[in-house]
Amino acid sequence: MAAANDSRKRAMPEFSIPMSSAELDESDYQAVMGVLRSGRLALGGQALEFERQMAAYVGVRHAISVSSGTAALHLLVRALGIGAGDEVIVPSFTFAASANAILYERATPVFCEIEPQTYNLDPDDVRRRITPRTKAIMAVDVFGHPADWDALQDIAERYGLALIDDCCEALGAEYRGRKVGSFGAAGAFAFYPNKQMTTGEGGMIVTDDARIAALCRALRNQGRGQMSAWLEHEHLGYNYRLDEMSAALGVTQLARIETFLAKRAAVAQMYTERLAGLDMLRTPLVQPHAQMSWFVYVVTLAEGLDRDVVIARMEQEGIPARGYFFPTHLQPYIRQMLGYRGGELPLTEGIARRTLALPFHNNLMAAQVEQVAACLARAAQ
Ligand SMILES: *Cc1c(COP(=O)(O)O)cnc(C)c1O
Repeated sequence: MAAANDSRKRAMPEFSIPMSSAELDESDYQAVMGVLRSGRLALGGQALEFERQMAAYVGVRHAISVSSGTAALHLLVRALGIGAGDEVIVPSFTFAASANAILYERATPVFCEIEPQTYNLDPDDVRRRITPRTKAIMAVDVFGHPADWDALQDIAERYGLALIDDCCEALGAEYRGRKVGSFGAAGAFAFYPNKQMTTGEGGMIVTDDARIAALCRALRNQGRGQMSAWLEHEHLGYNYRLDEMSAALGVTQLARIETFLAKRAAVAQMYTERLAGLDMLRTPLVQPHAQMSWFVYVVTLAEGLDRDVVIARMEQEGIPARGYFFPTHLQPYIRQMLGYRGGELPLTEGIARRTLALPFHNNLMAAQVEQVAACLARAAQ
């Protein structure tokens, strides 16, 4: 299980083409240096400015900066009052943080299947998994493709469920002309360096709901209310604040987000054109109503090919590739906690065995795309 998520702890060999790469320029360096010179490193104006710009970009009333995407999801679960005995329907085909945020509050993640085209959660399967204990649905816009928001909002309304958007992979993606993060009760973004834009570590909650916004602001700041004295705590809170250097980087990165997304779309198109003719794989599918925000470029290998052999062959040629995602319900700690043994989500498990993420970043050049594609074609023979 050489899952993509292992990359953070596993020492990877040095490849000439990296799996991902943040785009940083002089404006980023200047912004961070400016904060350092100012001496105000926390709880300052940069975080407020980053929040203001992010709310405007997504098209919501409130944005609350936090220390990671995982922290954003955790606070949303808390703010929605989800706890022990509650069930939250969530796809298994996602990063572990989605389900973890539910488990932190002792609620139960109920894993659902995905659509075979987009790999986003399947609304029909979501409906089938609703029980009297279901409290919320956590949708994920996987790889930057928006989930089926019309169908999900319909279900949430009909059954009186809260709807959370894990849009950590989809900043700037649109569903029928409306940006992800603006659907459901609230959304969570993440800014780890492999995301579309980065703050190093960092995240953002976005919502139109003033109550959720106020509660999340308090919870990220050790439970202090807006009006509280510094040592007065209304709630059991956390230190999930975003520091000023990271927030300043967020402001300069967000100023260039449209350029970043356009560059990523161009790289994705080069891959798709180059790989289109190969019958040993299928390229990503974008629905007509969707505006994709490319997070990663993931191909699906044909049945019968051994994905791990393909990866090993590519790595031998100096090209990295990753299996992406490993199903959450089969992670060792989830098996132990919830008793999954494999076979419970056949569609997810079948797809997850065949998906392969290729090197992908803003500035991947045509010659490199060609090099990766040729290597993949040889490795998948
Ligand atoms: C990146 C990501 C997160 C959060 O990541 P952090 O590393 O905590 O910022 C959450 N969910 C998904 C689907 C992600 O891809």
